[in-house]
Amino acid sequence: MGYNVAIDGPAGAGKSTIAKLVAKEKGYIYVDTGAMYRGLAIHFLDKGVDPENSADIARACQDADVSIRYEDGAQQIYLNGKNVTDRLRTEDVGNMASKTSAIPAVREKLLELQRSLAREGDVIMDGRDIGTHILPDADVKIYLTASVETRAKRRYEELKEKGANCDLNQIAQDIKERDERDMTREIAPLKKAKDAILIDSSDMTIPEVVSAICGYCRQE
Ligand code: C5P
Repeated sequence: MGYNVAIDGPAGAGKSTIAKLVAKEKGYIYVDTGAMYRGLAIHFLDKGVDPENSADIARACQDADVSIRYEDGAQQIYLNGKNVTDRLRTEDVGNMASKTSAIPAVREKLLELQRSLAREGDVIMDGRDIGTHILPDADVKIYLTASVETRAKRRYEELKEKGANCDLNQIAQDIKERDERDMTREIAPLKKAKDAILIDSSDMTIPEVVSAICGYCRQE
């Protein structure tokens, strides 16, 4: 078993930015589980499957093979042998991932992939149910959050930087809806594990959050 750090929290809390930096500092492998849900979402979008139809989604899962590779230290997501990493971060894909991640067949499909990565190496894994469900015995569990306003603003800046046309109120609304879906779904809802450390990053800088988390990890 590797050394395992779990980071859970709502959309836009900065989990991936922070986890990548902690991974670099501590020499862990960063595993972005949201990217796996997004990879499957691309499959559903390409096939035109209705996210409200769980039976169709479960069927579509059967001909999807999501795998993860590391190229120059960066995580790449492959869908049926094709690298789809460039397509992962759009709002369409995020919304499809959020809707379909509530379907048991989708979660089952990705569970073993996530656990096997944690068995094989020292990882920092981010997601929604890592500390509560995927890695209940993780060595360190962090619940990273921030206010809706802060998260919406961060996402807005990120999209604007990429030249996307976006609306702050719409992003805030999407974030609220995504939180609601992630926190109230029946299977593996987003919640803080009892033994997770709560970090609210609304008024913290990125280096402050990274340093706080590194402080909770094994010191070499
Ligand atoms: O973190 P990210 O925004 O990339 O995740 C996309 C969607 O995948 C989330 O809205 C969430 O519904 C789902 N997800 C999940 N469990 C995880 C990671 C992501 O349900 N461990």
